[in-house]
Amino acid sequence: MAKIFCIANQKGGVGKTTTTVNLAAGLAKVGQRVLMVDLDPQGNATMGSGVDKRKLAHTVYDVLLESATIAEARVQSDKLKHCGCSYDILGANRELAGAEVELVEVERRERRLKEAIAAVDAEYDFVLIDCPPSLSMLTLNGLCCAHGVIVPMQCEYFALEGLTDLVNTIKQVKANLNDDLQIIGLLRVMFDPRITLQQQVGEQLKAHFGDKVFDTVIPRNVRLAEAPSYGLPGVAFDPASKGAQSFISFAKEMVARIDKK
Ligand code: ADP
Ligand code: MG
Repeated sequence: MAKIFCIANQKGGVGKTTTTVNLAAGLAKVGQRVLMVDLDPQGNATMGSGVDKRKLAHTVYDVLLESATIAEARVQSDKLKHCGCSYDILGANRELAGAEVELVEVERRERRLKEAIAAVDAEYDFVLIDCPPSLSMLTLNGLCCAHGVIVPMQCEYFALEGLTDLVNTIKQVKANLNDDLQIIGLLRVMFDPRITLQQQVGEQLKAHFGDKVFDTVIPRNVRLAEAPSYGLPGVAFDPASKGAQSFISFAKEMVARIDKK
């Protein structure tokens, strides 16, 4: 059975998409079978995986509205195949923004993605879901099917404040819709050890949340930021870079955590 994780944080620009595509590529590189689901109408995870969001015949939108199955809608990227870290992609584009409104009228609206993933579950070791920067019906669909949530966060002064809303949402979803759900871990991203405040906040997080904080820390690294313009995750674009290496370590840490359970 696949382990299903949402990469979520209601703040924008905190590194969700970067984490999703690089973890997907890192897991693929260490031999895991991965499906990456783009749940953000911006389609950045789709483009960042080397798939042109404007040219997709089917997207996650069709899956949510049940006009296509995941088997019909998923695609692969030639670029990723060349780099030896291929994963399947259930893409998204602007059309997905409409799903928010259209889903209001339908039955089982928050369980659509869960039911669709159940049909392909056996084909994967990991399903990673890149969530939009909101606690919307789209994010709710992601949280409903996940075993856990990975929360990328920058070690800044206000980082913890934003976390409260997410933690409360996760509690509510757990109580009402998905008893499995838990925060798997907080991932410290865009980390700059030269900045004392970041070091302090990083250590405070560890002290406060213990093993809910991943050991791996993702540094601020320009190669990770450059990679999307080449339609590749950093792990595929420049495997030797510090950013890529840290995501490979993170993929290994994830696999080890799953094996322990
Ligand atoms: P989100 O999906 O949460 O909105 P993104 O993953 O798109 O966030 O990241 C926001 C911006 O920061 C992007 O331009 C991305 O390339 C850049 N970025 C993300 N992580 C890093 C990192 N570790 N080092 C340098 N730049 C990063
Ligand atoms: Mg994003």
